[in-house]
Amino acid sequence: MKSVYNAIDLPLKEEYDDIIVGGGTASYPLAATLSVNYSVLVHERGSAPPSYPRLVLTTDGIVDILLQEDDGKTPAQRFTSEDGVANVRGRVLGGSSMINGGFYSRPDDQFYNESGVDPDNGFSLQHLVGTKTSSSTFDNEGKRHGVVELLNRGELKNLKVAIEAHAERIIFSSKASGVSANGVVYSDSKGRTHEALIRNEGGVILSAGAIGSPQLLLLSEVGPFPHVSLHKVPVVSQNPDVGNFMADNPRNVINIVVPFALDPSLSTKWNRSLRIERGNHNEKFSGPLSSGSLRLVLFTDVKVSPTVRFNYFEDLKDLARCVREMRLDGYMLKTDARERFKLEDLKGAEGFKFLGPSLPRNLSDDASMEVFCRSTVTTFWHYHGGCLVGKVVDGDLRVVGTNSLRVVDGSIFNTSLGTNSQATLMMIGQYVY
Ligand SMILES: Cc1cc2nc3c(=O)[nH]c(=O)nc-3n(C[C@H](O)[C@H](O)[C@H](O)COP(=O)(O)OP(=O)(O)OC[C@H]3O[C@@H](n4cnc5c(N)ncnc54)[C@H](O)[C@@H]3O)c2cc1C
Repeated sequence: MKSVYNAIDLPLKEEYDDIIVGGGTASYPLAATLSVNYSVLVHERGSAPPSYPRLVLTTDGIVDILLQEDDGKTPAQRFTSEDGVANVRGRVLGGSSMINGGFYSRPDDQFYNESGVDPDNGFSLQHLVGTKTSSSTFDNEGKRHGVVELLNRGELKNLKVAIEAHAERIIFSSKASGVSANGVVYSDSKGRTHEALIRNEGGVILSAGAIGSPQLLLLSEVGPFPHVSLHKVPVVSQNPDVGNFMADNPRNVINIVVPFALDPSLSTKWNRSLRIERGNHNEKFSGPLSSGSLRLVLFTDVKVSPTVRFNYFEDLKDLARCVREMRLDGYMLKTDARERFKLEDLKGAEGFKFLGPSLPRNLSDDASMEVFCRSTVTTFWHYHGGCLVGKVVDGDLRVVGTNSLRVVDGSIFNTSLGTNSQATLMMIGQYVY
């Protein structure tokens, strides 16, 4: 891959106009755009997709990648939130766009009105009321076309992408105008420390995702004072909301073993790996209203994952939405259209073979529906927050209280899109400058 270097081959000290931390979904369109006029360095802690060709580049890999053991280098880094829900985050060039389901969909106008996120390039997939129209980043041969391909749209002579480069902290200097980001300290796989500095009024842009960007701000002493001072760390800039408002859209699902082969879809990829024919009803709603926080475990080591809590259903309106939507799923199971999925000719929900939990028998009993929602909650992998627009960053995505520092990734969202996030993050990366 052109412009991609292992960090061990880069000098210990270098200067660029702009430095992007994190080589993920939002950062490649951003790097390609900036490189037209400026020299740009991108740091990515993971390796390049060709190291894991089947897992990240083909539809055959999308299930295995989530089931693979995490050896500290694999493209999907596993973590479990303090809520007890297992989750993953991308750790590879292209970020989570290289481990995701490839579903490519745009939000409704309402998202732009409510989130404060700009710019909106106005593109739409013209959703019909009650539906979501989507495209895919996989082609008809099952090959993934991830954001890394956008690099070729940039000015390659101005662009350097360092892989296996762990950004450890942002370097700041104090000027009359306030605290300014000057560069980034990063380490390579041999444990050597490098410094990348900015020049010509350039900037540092964090694009390390909803877990990585708040983590790096906190490691760089930008954060809530009481939390930071507890650990006796001096504060570069007090910002009470760094790491707060971490939210994940709850997913509740019912799986049904079906008596015939289903048409090819994302679900059938899962089925092949589980060796069954299975249909499922997934539920996701926009928001959510419930949120939690991210906190550092260790103030000195970026490789130690922070703790994160999403507080699923803490806001009872979220719980009520789950109950309403799972109830609707239950009613759908009782329709004639679902009869052919039964294994036995029995009435109501009888006759279905559930894989995992089934819905409560009495769908109108709120209490048992609430227990179902809470006990079966899992993730839609659209977690966001930690560096919210209007709290940690301003409308231009600049970190409040600092100069030359921006955040461009899913950590800025105060709400999810109501649909999947990658298309919107790519668009923000491309148009933010
Ligand atoms: C399993 C899964 C399935 C999904 N399915 C879909 C889907 O089908 N469609 C869809 O639209 N969305 C989907 N999503 C959501 C979507 O992929 C993510 O919301 C989006 O990719 C996040 O983009 P980002 O730019 O915020 O972060 P990322 O793309 O995750 O990029 C962050 C990058 O920063 C790097 N990084 C972090 N810390 C450091 C550091 N200290 N130093 C150097 N590098 C660092 C990471 O390794 C990573 O590559 C899915 C997500 C997952 C996890």
